[in-house]
Amino acid sequence: MPNPLREKSGGRMIYTVPLIVFMDDVSGNISKQWNKHHVVYMSNALLPREMLDQEFTIRFISGSPHASPMELMQGIKDSIEKATDDGIIAFDVKHQEEVMLIPYNLIVASDNPMQAEECSHGGLRCNYFCRTCKVGGTTAEKKTDKGYSDIFKSGDLRTPEDTRACIKRQIELSKLSGGTDKVNKSVSQTGVRDATSTAIVNRLLELGKALGKKTAGKPTMSEAQVTARLEHELESLLGGRSVDDCINLLLRIRGLDVHKDTPTEILHTILLGVVKYFWGQTAYILDKGHLLKKFQCRLESVEKDGLNSPTLSADYIVRYKGGLVGKHFKSLAQVMPYLIYDLVPRSVLDGWVMIGRLVVLLWHTLIEDTKSYLVRASFFLLTTHNQRRFTGRPFTRNRRLSQHFCTVCAKYFGDEAKISLSTPSPYVYQAIRPSYPLLDRVL
Ligand SMILES: [Zn+2]
Repeated sequence: MPNPLREKSGGRMIYTVPLIVFMDDVSGNISKQWNKHHVVYMSNALLPREMLDQEFTIRFISGSPHASPMELMQGIKDSIEKATDDGIIAFDVKHQEEVMLIPYNLIVASDNPMQAEECSHGGLRCNYFCRTCKVGGTTAEKKTDKGYSDIFKSGDLRTPEDTRACIKRQIELSKLSGGTDKVNKSVSQTGVRDATSTAIVNRLLELGKALGKKTAGKPTMSEAQVTARLEHELESLLGGRSVDDCINLLLRIRGLDVHKDTPTEILHTILLGVVKYFWGQTAYILDKGHLLKKFQCRLESVEKDGLNSPTLSADYIVRYKGGLVGKHFKSLAQVMPYLIYDLVPRSVLDGWVMIGRLVVLLWHTLIEDTKSYLVRASFFLLTTHNQRRFTGRPFTRNRRLSQHFCTVCAKYFGDEAKISLSTPSPYVYQAIRPSYPLLDRVL
């Protein structure tokens, strides 16, 4: 009996093709010239990394100023599933024969807010702020020593099944009296918020409120009557579909665990997160001390040959210090300590040294020794965060995310990773060093 796939391909060679699906909102600024719209692109994850960056390997799939991200995703999902089921016949130039390609969705790439939406997660402002696991707690809990150190551990992993069950529960809650509070409570206790079914939940809540209102001259409806009416409304909203069909479709794609398969994007998390805010603070210190001119001179005279992306126009960077983009931060992170070593407090300088080393690690394209790599990455991440705390920045969203990013590394150390993080940098360094025997070897 031939393998069913052999039969399907008519004896041709079969190759699977993993796809990277990228979605983003573009032209988000509200003006007459630009219209906000969502776009979807795809790349073939089998290509070598150098080629994935090339424009000609990125394929435009869809875009719309009207359809919501999840509506676009529905179309993508249908077409990928059709291609997976039917297979695509192509010609293999290398072996000069016809082959069958079976594509599948490998990862969903986006920025953090979009990935949160794709995971039916409320985003970084939630008490349970991680879209991958259930780490977190209320602000009061996180302020305790235990709560704070727990942020550095990975929580139980989220699963698509759990998330789906939770969304269904929220739809049920929206039919009860006091539904708004109940739904909000469920969102804040789980971090689960599904954009696809929001319209349904909101409609039920609104209707529930309107029905429960006491108006003069009209008999008030009993709770059972209200529930029956809402039940009916839900059915008409579903229009013959099941509840499952009306919630986030990414939670039920074959072979895709959206909580795991939405890898963190480092542009917004690091360059436009930690580095941007640290730069803002540093520029403020320089400006206050009338040192910007000096800084600009040094930046102008810095040797740029050793940098792999020399985008350091000193005049531009100082003039538009509040409006820099990723490439500026990437370059600045590599040279800052040499420019400001005697212009800022030691703690700020230490911060830039750490950022410089961290950025180099994160933009690695090849990791030869994962363990020593993780030791270094987690060390610099932890120290970088303390620097930011030291300069008085409030507890920000990006910081929380990157802190949590460390937890992945912390797994390598078990209990040793429990360190006091409220101390400023040189002390942190001293405190961490004995706990990380590998550190001396890798730093
Ligand atoms: Zn997590």
